[in-house]
Amino acid sequence: MIASIAVIGAGVTGTGTAWQLAEQGHSVVLVDPSLATPIPERPADRDLNGSTASLGVLMGLAFRRSSGRAWRLRQRSMTLWPAWVEQLNHPESPLQLDTPLIQLAGSAEEAQRMQQLADARPDSGLQFIANDRLGETDPVWPQAGHGAMLSERDGRVDPLLLLKALRRSLIEHNVERRATEVVELQRPGSTARRQWRLITADGRNEAVDLVVICSALGSTKLLQSLGHQRPMDAVLGQVLELQLNKPAKQWTGWPAVLTCGGINLIPHGHNRLWIGATLEPGVNADPAATETMRRLNELAPSWLNAAQLLGQWHGLRARPRDRPAPLLEELEPGLLLASGHYRNGVLLAPATAEWVSQHIDKETITSP
Ligand SMILES: Cc1cc2nc3c(=O)[nH]c(=O)nc-3n(C[C@H](O)[C@H](O)[C@H](O)COP(=O)(O)OP(=O)(O)OC[C@H]3O[C@@H](n4cnc5c(N)ncnc54)[C@H](O)[C@@H]3O)c2cc1C
Repeated sequence: MIASIAVIGAGVTGTGTAWQLAEQGHSVVLVDPSLATPIPERPADRDLNGSTASLGVLMGLAFRRSSGRAWRLRQRSMTLWPAWVEQLNHPESPLQLDTPLIQLAGSAEEAQRMQQLADARPDSGLQFIANDRLGETDPVWPQAGHGAMLSERDGRVDPLLLLKALRRSLIEHNVERRATEVVELQRPGSTARRQWRLITADGRNEAVDLVVICSALGSTKLLQSLGHQRPMDAVLGQVLELQLNKPAKQWTGWPAVLTCGGINLIPHGHNRLWIGATLEPGVNADPAATETMRRLNELAPSWLNAAQLLGQWHGLRARPRDRPAPLLEELEPGLLLASGHYRNGVLLAPATAEWVSQHIDKETITSP
């Protein structure tokens, strides 16, 4: 059955979900005030949601655990990503996956764990690089003392290009885009066609069969008036853009993402580097946190310390309180929550959209 569906929130989660639902033939409306503005060419320090501030690192396979929901979602997303990119890539909105990802070991113990992981998952494209080989590759990498793990299929997707490509596909699939805030959700009444009502800040009151809430930190307030308590905390992330004055060597040969002590170094453009992101509870950026990150917790090599600061930005992540991220739940018939993705919303966008689509299919088939 074809359903009318409202998706609330147009970050990667909502936009990706709206696209997938439209692909399945549903009639979709996507609602978010941010739809009034085009996706920026580069992240700027204003009007950023989690998605536009993100680095887009996809670390799905180089993941220590090998069971549980978080692991399954990561695995599923990494399986779906190549098809997403193939479908979304278009001359007007080019999109690609940049690989590989290299994670530097911080200690002999970590190196041992990496070696064990690579040995246990030969089919995942994981490979341990011993320190002597790492030294030959580039002796000036930070923290190059214990070896590293190469993950061939992990890497990065540019979040701004992804959002542009998704928005183009929404137009192609006739998804209605409404640039306004949802101020209230009302449960279906007792009429024959049991529909949810969406009250928006522009004064409209609209009926839909199903609602999918993908509004990150904005989800809590919408759910509260329906009696669902899903508190989330903001965790701010800062990113720096650096110009390398005297690069130690050409960027060619560097991975798409180099991870050192949880901090990502992403080469781009001409001798430029993004470095991020901080993990700061709350909504206020702390300059001391940026400084510590820039110095890679005192592990930064001299070429990195000498780099010139070109710019910086920050954004907020939504971390569910007392529940594991992300929140993927059917809260009541016709009301789905896909939110609270915390540090991995971009990585998990395909698996999230698939989860929603499958639930909606089940619901529309079984409903009278
Ligand atoms: C600096 C930084 C770096 C990051 N790096 C990575 C990374 O490398 N890899 C990765 O996977 N993840 C990363 N993340 C996390 C990732 O960005 C988030 O998990 C992801 O963007 C969440 O997407 P989302 O669509 O759920 O939420 P958001 O992108 O925050 O979008 C939510 C949207 O909902 C809208 N909204 C809210 N309330 C309402 C309402 N009432 N009505 C209508 N609309 C509403 C908002 O306007 C907003 O546009 C990073 C985050 C930050 C801040």
